[in-house]
Amino acid sequence: MVLSRPTSEKIHHQLTFDSSGNPGSKLSTEKKHRLFLLRSIDVIADVFEALYSSPNHGNKSVPMDELVYIHLSKKTNERGYSEAFDRLSSAFPHWMGLADADVEHLKRLIGSAGLGNQRTAELLANVRRIKAEFGSITLNPLLKWSERRIFEFLVSLEGIGPKSALCIMMYSMGKKVFPVDTHVHLICERMGFIGAGLDHDAAQKELAGMFPREMRYGLHVNMIAHGRQICRKRGRPLCELCNLDKFCLYFRKNQRDRNQGVSMIDVFCGAGGATLGFKNAGFAVRLAVDKDRKATDTYYLNNEELSFDQVITCDLQSLKSKTLRRRAHGKIIMVFGGPPCQGWSHIGKNHKKGQGGTDFFGDEKNTLYIEFARVLNIFNPRYFVMENVPGLLSADGGKYARIILKEFRNHKYESITLRLNASDYGIAQNRTRVFFIGRRIYRKGGSASARKELSRIAALIELKKEEKIVSFREVTKGLPHLKAAEGSNVVRIDDTNRALISKPHMIFNHFARKHNPRDLRIYELLSEGEDYGSFSRERRDKSLLPYNTESFKTKFRKISGNNICYAIISHLSRDANSYVHPQDNRGITVREAARVQSFPDGFVFLGKGFGQFIDLGNAVPPKLAQVIGLSITESLKDVKQYE
Ligand code: SF4
Repeated sequence: MVLSRPTSEKIHHQLTFDSSGNPGSKLSTEKKHRLFLLRSIDVIADVFEALYSSPNHGNKSVPMDELVYIHLSKKTNERGYSEAFDRLSSAFPHWMGLADADVEHLKRLIGSAGLGNQRTAELLANVRRIKAEFGSITLNPLLKWSERRIFEFLVSLEGIGPKSALCIMMYSMGKKVFPVDTHVHLICERMGFIGAGLDHDAAQKELAGMFPREMRYGLHVNMIAHGRQICRKRGRPLCELCNLDKFCLYFRKNQRDRNQGVSMIDVFCGAGGATLGFKNAGFAVRLAVDKDRKATDTYYLNNEELSFDQVITCDLQSLKSKTLRRRAHGKIIMVFGGPPCQGWSHIGKNHKKGQGGTDFFGDEKNTLYIEFARVLNIFNPRYFVMENVPGLLSADGGKYARIILKEFRNHKYESITLRLNASDYGIAQNRTRVFFIGRRIYRKGGSASARKELSRIAALIELKKEEKIVSFREVTKGLPHLKAAEGSNVVRIDDTNRALISKPHMIFNHFARKHNPRDLRIYELLSEGEDYGSFSRERRDKSLLPYNTESFKTKFRKISGNNICYAIISHLSRDANSYVHPQDNRGITVREAARVQSFPDGFVFLGKGFGQFIDLGNAVPPKLAQVIGLSITESLKDVKQYE
């Protein structure tokens, strides 16, 4: 039983089908959190490993040694049982003669481990049985048995329960099992891997098959270290020093009453760049929706004050109005949304090709603004902000933008469109996006006051422009230099002693691509700021010119360290040839791109490998959203003058 539950098939089913966050799902928020943890287990295991490096807790690599060690270590302190083990193993090398040892002599040797009578009786009973079964005092014959048979034999010994049996199997037989001691139990309960209040046997059964086999040893030994130092059994856990806090249900529940501010909703929320910026400007998110679970996992992780009731993984179109209202809890002042913009991204190009007659609203993706307007209709917020690409404004001489503005007007909103370039606001990136900003018309004839307030918001945004550009080199300063194929998703970059002084500094998502020799040679020859078009004019070596230089002018580009970077886009998930690092002869990492996008290092992107670029490339730069958010909250302070 302990070895087989739950099956990996069951877990796979839950991860794939049950954890959508769909409001139809009957799963509790705790269960959704647990499934989120299991989807993120590789990152969690990496954080534990970066913190503690799978320490040796003194366990033994020879099965019989480990059995004796386990006997001595139960219910006592480390020093006492370590000393007792040393005395016993010196007195009985290779345990020869132990079965016939004098009981009083044994009790004296065990002395410092305590419980001498009980330990001596159990130990003697077990070594005598082992000698009778195998002809000598060894457990080596078990190495040829199946895991289940080993487990059943060990738990049949005196004083050996499931946890002790699994420890012997894991530490000394190399079996990929997962023993649950009190530290592991407590951490798994606090983090939310198991429910609260399970007794120890029930916790062992729940956790036995929960983690991937190759991670079990590391998770076990690292959790013990974490329990001894940070997530303590006695007294308060030291969450302020814990790098796993974002993943931890105990910590997250304590953050919920911090969700204070101007209430907002984020639809098509993605990873949450806009939310972060608005939160920095004084907003509090009540609800976020996106249909991409990878994105909502990142969103949930980085918004610790929210539960899975408030982060919904679902197509907005399939969400009923009453569900949205119920989940958002109360009055909403602002709705933000960035409907997918792929359809509009290509409009400019199509127009140049004379395809102006294309019916862009024939593509469902281009009509999601109607869904956005439906959300406005449900909540009647005072403001909305909708982000999109500049192509939307230019399509058919502005025809589509006018249709969208008319739709907002039908829902009683005056709105303006602003083209904002991130680089004007202290962001190291040449990224222009369009923002529709709307203000509700509250009464007949109220359009003028709405327009007046929108003009004021636009002026406040304009006033926040910064004179000085921020360069790629400035924003990536301090990140470890990497060569191609170096780096890791989780890196600890300080040497601070873990002696309860400060939270270790970790860098996430900082790993570089592997490149082929030809591309590496091209990167090396490119100057900072140079692209493939100008590079190719100077080269005669055809092996360095694999693409048509006219059509692929920007196929290769090296970022100029002292200038702003090109716009970070989701295509970086496929290749980074046009985002070559100015010094390090490789494509930029997700963390470097995140800094360019103005994300702080504490914002962690989930997802496999370079797929993390998709959410990052689609995100609104937090600092740009903050500029808009601050302008709205400043205007909100003067509300009376518009009413
Ligand atoms: S956040 Fe606190 S409760 Fe959670 S694992 Fe860390 S120390 Fe333990």
